[in-house]
Amino acid sequence: MKAKIGFEIHVQLNTKQKLFCRCSADYTDKDPNTNICPICTGQPGSKPMPPNLEAIKNVIKVGLILGCKPNHVRIYFLRKHYFYPDLPKNYQITSEPLMVDGNFFGVKIREVHLEEDPGRYDLRNGYVDFNRSGTPLAEIVTEPDIESPEHAKGWLEKLFLYLKYSRAIRADPGSIRVDVNVSIEGGERVEIKNVNSIDGVYRSLKYEILRQTRMLIVGKRIKRETRHYDDEKRITAPLREKEDIADYRYIPDPDLIPIEISESLIDNIKRDILSPIEYEKILKNKYNLKENYIQKLLQNPEFLELCIYVLKNIKKEDPNRVAEILTNHVWRVIKDTNLEFHQIKNLQLVRNIERLLTILNRVDRNKLCDIVSAMLLNSEDPVNYAKKKRYLLQEVDKNKIISIVKEILTSETKAVNDYLNGKKKALSYLVGKVMSRLEIKPNPKTITEIIKEEIYRTYR
Ligand code: ADP
Ligand code: ZN
Ligand code: MG
Repeated sequence: MKAKIGFEIHVQLNTKQKLFCRCSADYTDKDPNTNICPICTGQPGSKPMPPNLEAIKNVIKVGLILGCKPNHVRIYFLRKHYFYPDLPKNYQITSEPLMVDGNFFGVKIREVHLEEDPGRYDLRNGYVDFNRSGTPLAEIVTEPDIESPEHAKGWLEKLFLYLKYSRAIRADPGSIRVDVNVSIEGGERVEIKNVNSIDGVYRSLKYEILRQTRMLIVGKRIKRETRHYDDEKRITAPLREKEDIADYRYIPDPDLIPIEISESLIDNIKRDILSPIEYEKILKNKYNLKENYIQKLLQNPEFLELCIYVLKNIKKEDPNRVAEILTNHVWRVIKDTNLEFHQIKNLQLVRNIERLLTILNRVDRNKLCDIVSAMLLNSEDPVNYAKKKRYLLQEVDKNKIISIVKEILTSETKAVNDYLNGKKKALSYLVGKVMSRLEIKPNPKTITEIIKEEIYRTYR
């Protein structure tokens, strides 16, 4: 039975201040309720300040990375009403979609919008800490294009990596919260609220898919509901029947004027952005890279950026040869050691790969990783290192030369006859022909000997 999975993902935007007041957005390591003001605690008579521009820019950045287009309408801030101890004004301010219609690694993105985070309510003792209240969140809504827990985990890891690397979001763990929607063919969808880690998403999906599949097998109906995931017991449990959109009584916030996204703002943000869709185009169209290299390069934004730098700066080389070294050997060395991307000296990497490519045909393939690791970790020159370690093949395979000689002798009948009739020049002509077919050039004498042997053996 096929599963369908879609997410509503909350990420904390990277800003200095909260969304509608000037309190610090850095709420961690502070005594409870010391990072607050009348606005972010929703006190009577307080009104939101104009929205934090840094947050707006970062939510646009998130959208662009996910391949979204700006929503070119007046975007209103809405009041979403519900009652919970962490929300003193009894409504959360959430924007209409700022960015729409994206696609990130094959999963369609419906929209991205802005929200304020509530405070933190401790169920065990009833305490509420408002330090976090009013900090900016982006909510990303996907289409239900995800097919399995494994797919979900891999995709979310990539998403988090790209967003973190762009500095649009906070990097600390726990800064991602996901509402996981999952249905099985023939059943209603269930929403698992507020899962707070990628592994949690994976485990809750494993459990929930199993639960739903079993229900369907024994002929029970799966009802549309909201569940909660308990990561200690590793199960999901019913929370409440899903509220209707009407329950939130959305109204435009009269204290906030709607915003409009201008083209020039988009252009400004685009300038320093690393979006996989844009890079896929460049790798395909400009460098003509094979699909499997492109997919490997896109795995990690820091690696991608490093490789683009190398491809851009290497002169007169087949980009696919460069990509082979990068995606196989350089990548493996980085993964197998504790090397960080910023420790790699980009310019030196360009020079070293150029050098390495000059000996690639003569080098024992099994030794490539050793050469690359010496070059990355100990700043060794790849050519000198390969020589020092005797990794270069000295002799060409004699049988290979013989078979090429045979081929050429069959096609060059005139030269063979000329030689047999005493024309010495014909021999050097044949040597030249063979040489041009070999990647690794042995001593011409060796070839001369082989040609002579073959001619005498076959043509006399
Ligand atoms: P609602 O309006 O009830 O919030 P949406 O259509 O807005 O529902 O979808 C909310 C989330 O549920 C989205 O992330 C979407 O991908 C996901 N979703 C929608 N339909 C399904 C389904 N059949 N199975 C799993 N997830 C779904
Ligand atoms: Zn405040
Ligand atoms: Mg919805």
